[in-house]
Amino acid sequence: MVNKPVVRVGIIGAGNVGSALVQLLSDESRHEALVDAATGPIELVGVAVRDAAKRRKGIPKHLLTTDVVGLINNDLDVLVELVGGIKPARVYIETALRHGVSVVTANKALMAECGTELAQLAHQNGADLFYEAAVGGAIPILRALRTSLAGERINRVMGIVNGTTNYILSKMTSEGSDYAIALKEAQALGYAEADPSADVEGYDAAAKVQILASLAFGTELVGGAIYRQGIVGVRAVDVEFARRSGYVIKLLGVAERIGDSGLSLRAHPAMIPVDHPLASVQGAMNAVFVEGVRSGPLMWLGQGAGGEATATAVLGDLLDAARNRFSDRHDVPFRVVRTLRSVAAGELQSVFYISIDVVDRPGVLAAVAGIFGDHGVSIQSMEQSGFGDEARLSFLTHMALTDSVNATIKELAKHKSVDSIGACLRVVDGDRQ
Ligand code: NAP
Repeated sequence: MVNKPVVRVGIIGAGNVGSALVQLLSDESRHEALVDAATGPIELVGVAVRDAAKRRKGIPKHLLTTDVVGLINNDLDVLVELVGGIKPARVYIETALRHGVSVVTANKALMAECGTELAQLAHQNGADLFYEAAVGGAIPILRALRTSLAGERINRVMGIVNGTTNYILSKMTSEGSDYAIALKEAQALGYAEADPSADVEGYDAAAKVQILASLAFGTELVGGAIYRQGIVGVRAVDVEFARRSGYVIKLLGVAERIGDSGLSLRAHPAMIPVDHPLASVQGAMNAVFVEGVRSGPLMWLGQGAGGEATATAVLGDLLDAARNRFSDRHDVPFRVVRTLRSVAAGELQSVFYISIDVVDRPGVLAAVAGIFGDHGVSIQSMEQSGFGDEARLSFLTHMALTDSVNATIKELAKHKSVDSIGACLRVVDGDRQ
């Protein structure tokens, strides 16, 4: 045990999360509890930002700096990175780790891109790398996977890990709104960015799935795309069909064991049964549902974003890193298992919901059904709605190979009776009805 009098902490970024963290650290009423949890006092020695002249509530001016490297070199024990993005966050984190400074980050994009390399760098330099807030904001899911479930065989992790898209889909479900209207409302309330593509195209959820999978299944965090489908194509009619059929549409991040040696990682909208625990997750809330062989189903629910909520997860990591510094130790990085084969989305079987806008004339249904049959996709149920320009056929298939469904859709799109393909969504646990 080293006799360290204090753990010196620097923060980069004083935006939503960084400024909330400074407030949590300077809350006098919590001072004793923080010292107890860290097993010693923590000193905030500096907060690096882009613009040090900007007034920032609750952050003393003398702590502000634009010199990140100077901050890291200031005999730091722990660096908290709350800037986001790949550049320059990666360089800052690598610099800190090379100096043996432990790092706490909320940066999902960076962790998905090069988490394995950073974790190894931390380990080689006797430092910690913690990133609880990178998935699910305040929800302590990464620590649960890393510690409590470390010995469990996990079959599937499914998460509603993007609050923006869950807000939009919840609005579409509760009010029957169109996607564009629900998106505008989310933007007006600050739930969606002016450029919402990272959220609505599923990039954010995909990065989080990669992080969840690394802890649940031992996969590497080395970037690389995973199967991804956004919510932009989801229409009010699809949401309504789902409701009538006993489902809700959610954007899910899924990491799933396939057989003994396969693993599928993906982020896409899906229809989930209304009685599934994830179906009741409303608005901007996040939830992660884990299915272990012996633990059975487990679910964590909470605020996936917001400065204060996210800062609580960052603070937990910071206290962990400080505790390790006081006892002169660091955690070992997550284990990597290279025996699992990545299974392409096309190889997976699922029940599908497919909606097609068709020309309203006799014989269309038979022609469309014939195309399904030609590709070996069998139809469980069919609904015909609208007429004239609004004529639509909505199908639920039986379990079908994704590649076969994609081939069906490709051929349908070329058929003279089909105006356009509306939606093609997986139905979660559609075979267990
Ligand atoms: P933010 O509000 O945009 O704040 C970013 C901060 O970083 C600002 O203070 C900015 O300085 C500073 N900054 C940017 N570039 C810098 C540079 N080159 N050098 C020094 N400082 C720099 O971001 P945020 O919402 O707090 O998010 C921070 C991190 O938390 C991101 O990784 C994000 O993905 C993650 N996260 C956020 C939430 C959330 O609800 N916001 C939830 C989960 C995870 P200026 O103030 O001078 O511009």
